[in-house]
Amino acid sequence: MLSPIERARLSLEGLSLGDAFGERFFVHPHTVDALIDQRALPGSPVWHWTDDTAMAISIVEELEAHGTVDRDSLASRFTRRYVAEPDRGYGGGAHRILQSMAEGLPWHVVAPSVFGGTGSMGNGSAMRAPPLGAFFADDLARCAREAGLSADPTHSHPDGRAGAIATAICAALVASTALEGRALLEATLAHTPEGPTRVGITRAIALDHIQSPRNAAEILGSGARVICEDTVPFSLWCASRFSRSFEEAMWATVSGLGDRDTTCAIVGGIVALRVGHHGLPSAWLERREPLPAPIDRARATQPP
Ligand SMILES: [Mg+2]
Repeated sequence: MLSPIERARLSLEGLSLGDAFGERFFVHPHTVDALIDQRALPGSPVWHWTDDTAMAISIVEELEAHGTVDRDSLASRFTRRYVAEPDRGYGGGAHRILQSMAEGLPWHVVAPSVFGGTGSMGNGSAMRAPPLGAFFADDLARCAREAGLSADPTHSHPDGRAGAIATAICAALVASTALEGRALLEATLAHTPEGPTRVGITRAIALDHIQSPRNAAEILGSGARVICEDTVPFSLWCASRFSRSFEEAMWATVSGLGDRDTTCAIVGGIVALRVGHHGLPSAWLERREPLPAPIDRARATQPP
């Protein structure tokens, strides 16, 4: 049995692998479909991870340090990592928020001010949430609360929070139950706040008859708008359908195209909790850029 922090690290491992895998498929539109149809692994020798992993590392470090989400502390971690490596593929809104925090403005002033004062509902709140669900898998009400807190430093729009909550809850359920498919989505929905992301998950539940991830992506969206409502429902649909095999889950998710590093990060962070360390393809892990030393050292001490 893994401890909560070991579960969070396992989720981070899957998340970063999905992030690095999906990012490799931002190739010419004429070639991407053939690559995916042939299941051809991208040729680059090192699969670099992106902002999804950078922010998820900060979440895991925060949980390791405090066992809870302290928003001031988490905002500092996000900001420090951004300042150290601003070119990890952050979106435009994230650049504005993190840059302002780096200049000394507090998160509770910056986060609500973006996008004309609505706050962000970008999918960045969800992409980093699976390790949090893993950590709080034994208490779903607390999981939802902490996921909301984890969104606040950057995503103050209610649907930005909802995307983080739905994603964390789905991860928690995969870690703590045997639920899959429609039942997993329905259990996730029960803890998801009202709003467009919740509507999208309801739509995903109704796609029981659909087999093709591409068709599901056409109906649900796969992150072309880079917001929670067009990213989280498709990601959770993929995770619910392919939770028994990390590789099947990744090929299915990337075939939906869209914001593919983020959809694969979310699905990877969830599915890792079902398949365990031994279910992560070692040939893929060898190609993924290593995670920062403290996180990697922790991994080395874990059971297989
Ligand atoms: Mg990214």
